[in-house]
Amino acid sequence: MPKCTYCQHKWSWREALTKQLTIHRTMNCPHCQKKQYQTRSSRQKAGLLNMIPLVLLPVSTILDLSIPVALSIMLLLFIAVLMVMPFFLVLKDEDDPLW
Ligand SMILES: [Zn+2]
Repeated sequence: MPKCTYCQHKWSWREALTKQLTIHRTMNCPHCQKKQYQTRSSRQKAGLLNMIPLVLLPVSTILDLSIPVALSIMLLLFIAVLMVMPFFLVLKDEDDPLW
């Protein structure tokens, strides 16, 4: 789980997930309220994780899966990605450029 770089507060899974699901790049520490930013490598890993459910699209065509089955598997993969995303969140006190 991520730790605040200022107060070393270890964020809970729920705190990390809710902060990651916002569209803002800044994440205020729930303990000290200082601004935190996701590291570039952490953002890249999260981006790759989000691609996993999309990989099923060509696979479902190859395996000739029905649409309800393919959508169900995609939904399960999406939920699994959401569950593990907080474990890849790494924080720093300065923002990195996007690339
Ligand atoms: Zn803090």
